[in-house]
Amino acid sequence: MSNGWERFFFIVAYITQGSSYMSPKTYGIMHRLHHAHTDTELDPHSPSFSKNIFTMMWRTRTFYRDIFNGTMEVDPKFTKNLPEWDGFDKWANSGISRALWVVVYLALFIIFAASPWLYLLLPIIISMGAFHGAIVNWFAHKYGYKNYILKNTSENLFSVDFLMLGESYHNNHHKFPSAINFGKRWHEIDPIYPVIRFFAWLGVISIPAPALVRVRK
Ligand SMILES: [Zn+2]
Ligand SMILES: [Zn+2]
Repeated sequence: MSNGWERFFFIVAYITQGSSYMSPKTYGIMHRLHHAHTDTELDPHSPSFSKNIFTMMWRTRTFYRDIFNGTMEVDPKFTKNLPEWDGFDKWANSGISRALWVVVYLALFIIFAASPWLYLLLPIIISMGAFHGAIVNWFAHKYGYKNYILKNTSENLFSVDFLMLGESYHNNHHKFPSAINFGKRWHEIDPIYPVIRFFAWLGVISIPAPALVRVRK
C-alpha cells in the first residue's frame, strides 16, 4: 500500500486496539522470527517452551519489548519491507497512551455498565490484543487437525473459523506463510480473504503474485 494508506491503517489500528496497541513493525519482526524458528528456543511464542498460556504471553512480551526498544539483535533479513512510523509507534506504545485508553474505557463503563459485574470484563478489554494473539499462538500450536505434515506443532484449530477471522487455519498458514487465503479445504472459509481482494479492487493495496498461492485438496 502507499505511505498514505499505511498511515491511515496505523491510526485505525491505534483506535481499535487502544491500550493493547502493538507496533506493526515490531510485531512483523516477531512474527517472522516465529516462522523462521517455530518451536525452537528462538521462537517468541511456543507452547513447547512455556508451561502455560500466561508464561508464554510473558515471554512474548519480553521479545516484543526488546525488539521494540532495539535491545535485541535481529538479523536484517527479518526487518526489511515492514510498515514504519516510528514517531507514532513511540506514542501509541507509551505508558501514557495506554493509561489514557484505560481512562476512556473506565469512563464508558461508568456511563453504560448496567451491573457492577460487567467491570470484571475491564481487564480483558484492556489487554485484548495480547489475548487475541495468544489464542492463536497457544491453542493453534496444541489442538486441532493437520492438513500438512510439517516440522512444527501447528494445527488448524477450527474446521470453520469465523471467531478468529480465519487465523486459526494455522497449519495451512505455516505451510503457505505468504498466502492471503488461509483456507485450503472447501469448508475452511477465510472471512478476511474477500476483504483483502476488495481492498485490492479498490486500489488501496496491491497483491504480489506469491500471495495468491492456491492449492486444491
Ligand atoms: Zn505458528
Ligand atoms: Zn504468519
